[in-house]
Amino acid sequence: MFEYAPAPESREIVDIKPSYGLFIGGEWVDSQGDTHHKTINPASEEVLAEVAWATEADVDRAVQAARTAFTTWSALPGSERAKYIFRIARIIQERSRELAILETLDNGKPIRESRDVDLPLVAAHFFYYAGWADKLGYAGFGPDPRPLGVAGQVIPWNFPLLMLAWKIAPALACGNTVVLKPAETTPLTALAFADICRQADLPPGVVNIVTGAGETGAALVNHPGVDKVAFTGSTEVGRMIARSVAGTGKKLSLELGGKAANIVFEDAALDQAVEGIVNGIFFNQGHVCCAGSRLLVQESVADEVLDALKRRLSTLRLGDPMDKNTDIGAINSAAQLAKIRELAEAGVNEGAERWSPACPIPERGFWFPPTVFTGVAQSHRIAREEIFGPVLSVLTFRTPAEAVEKANNTPYGLSAGIWTEKGSRILWMADRLRAGVVWANTFNRFDPTSPFGGYKESGYGREGGRHGLEAYLAV
Ligand code: NAP
Ligand code: MG
Repeated sequence: MFEYAPAPESREIVDIKPSYGLFIGGEWVDSQGDTHHKTINPASEEVLAEVAWATEADVDRAVQAARTAFTTWSALPGSERAKYIFRIARIIQERSRELAILETLDNGKPIRESRDVDLPLVAAHFFYYAGWADKLGYAGFGPDPRPLGVAGQVIPWNFPLLMLAWKIAPALACGNTVVLKPAETTPLTALAFADICRQADLPPGVVNIVTGAGETGAALVNHPGVDKVAFTGSTEVGRMIARSVAGTGKKLSLELGGKAANIVFEDAALDQAVEGIVNGIFFNQGHVCCAGSRLLVQESVADEVLDALKRRLSTLRLGDPMDKNTDIGAINSAAQLAKIRELAEAGVNEGAERWSPACPIPERGFWFPPTVFTGVAQSHRIAREEIFGPVLSVLTFRTPAEAVEKANNTPYGLSAGIWTEKGSRILWMADRLRAGVVWANTFNRFDPTSPFGGYKESGYGREGGRHGLEAYLAV
């Protein structure tokens, strides 16, 4: 084993204000209510800042500002809108170190991931959709597709700035204006993005950011002035939103939970597969909707794969997310930690065998060690419910048909992975897996040009790629 010296990233570059208001009509304004909420660093429980909780009246102001801005923004030629979006993309690149640090402080994810995965993808998303703004007539939705109007967008805490990019970039490219509500535990990068909008001279009201809790989100999606609702979050809240939006004429896209199968065949390159399993479930502490949380491994190689996996997990470093050597950071909140613990205990009680590497847990903050459950039956809660944490459930199979059946035996359908040497088997499997994304000999690969979205209870609509434009056009 290597010894590592500490390699902490410096936080000097970030300037966190003690208190934040709302970003409405291009200005920072106070909330009309007087409720504030503290956002903390989940790795230390240090209070980072206080943010306003937007009331219904605040949401109303933000929607009015977006409505007013829509008239001029939607009338701009696409090539003019593109200039603003390209400018935003470049500023994100210029400020990427600052944004990565801010994301890691507020969310708890390792700096290595926010720096090397989140931020490059955020910039890429804006670059990609900036490129579409003047080519919408060639996207396959008619010669002159029109925007919808005001988009109300609600996002979760696991990839705060990346989810913002997935929502805002295509909306603006298509000529819509937006009101976005970040998650209550991770508002800081969305607030920094508001500053970037000002820096880019984006016309006032095109982007509005309202911070708050679930009620703020509900006020936004239920506001009659909103023409389009885009939600990423839990299936439970997604269902409520689908009910409340039904019959209003608002266009809706939902990106919800997942319980993806990562399927390893005996002919796969097993060392690579082990890396893919680790990336599939331990990337971002497993706070990933498309995480490969169910490992399906062919029985003939199960022992070999599990031995190699346990050896590999013993080398992962859990701890300070700001340390550049850290692989596993903090769980985002006490509430999420409680949920993970409850499901892991259910796994033990239902008879699965629990394993974690020896791994010291820091005293303060919210932490959960990488955990593997073997002897998992399809009926166990840990095989059916989304844990949204660093917990892998291992099942075995004998034939490809059995792998397909087990993989599809879930109410979700967001993603799946296949590890095999045979191209024909990849295609055979991909045809039968009921999942929006199927990765072959890789996992958790994202690209702005590729559509992403679910089947069944994982939601509907696609984000990313040409397909992602449809959600923001009147087609
Ligand atoms: P969540 O509770 O559904 O929250 C998501 C967002 O909705 C947050 O901003 C939340 O605000 C807000 N919200 C809560 N109640 C609301 C309501 N009644 N009306 C409108 N908005 C409301 O989900 P989470 O626990 O934060 O996020 C984890 C879930 O998101 C997982 O299930 C995961 O699979 C899913 N997810 C899916 C994708 C995807 O692309 N498919 C990506 C990432 C995450 P507060 O933060 O204040 O509660
Ligand atoms: Mg926080």
